[in-house]
Amino acid sequence: MKDVRDYIRTIVDFPHEGILFRDVTTLFADPRGFRMAIDQLLHPYAGVRFDKVVGLEARGFILGGAVAHQLSAGFVPIRKKGKLPGAVIAEEYQLEYGEAVVEIHDDAIEPGQKILLVDDLLATGGTAEAGIRLVERLGGEIIGCAFIVDLPELGGRKRLEALGMDVHALCA
Ligand code: IMP
Repeated sequence: MKDVRDYIRTIVDFPHEGILFRDVTTLFADPRGFRMAIDQLLHPYAGVRFDKVVGLEARGFILGGAVAHQLSAGFVPIRKKGKLPGAVIAEEYQLEYGEAVVEIHDDAIEPGQKILLVDDLLATGGTAEAGIRLVERLGGEIIGCAFIVDLPELGGRKRLEALGMDVHALCA
């Protein structure tokens, strides 16, 4: 039987030379693969009640919507700067070259709400950490951070665990 990792392809030299890009669109496009991925993302949280699933732009939206539906939770997007229409709070983080800014609507989470953070891939953890900071600034309590792929050699898991996060990933 095929495993989640069997549906993910690797694109060489994308977005630039020397990068091996894990392309999860092939996983999303396969009916069995996509269902398997959502079921496995949810697996550790059986019986846990979540108020909101927070998804990181852009593939975290695809996963987060499906996961939120299964959990009967709301969905909240974290987007790149300038995309959300309402009042936002922002966090800046470092990229390999330069900085990026992510934003969340300032009324998207109420203090004490239980949150599951979702994205396709954990690399250095910079994106997820910025998302965690946004959720925590609004008073949300992050119960878990779930990813399809973890690239442990890039340190993201250690970085999030050092923040006290519970990290769940389906493959490396
Ligand atoms: P980090 O901030 O270094 O952990 O990078 C993770 C973010 O970059 C996530 O939002 C991913 O969607 C994206 N990303 C980085 N590398 C890849 C990849 O190989 N495939 C898909 N997304 C990636």
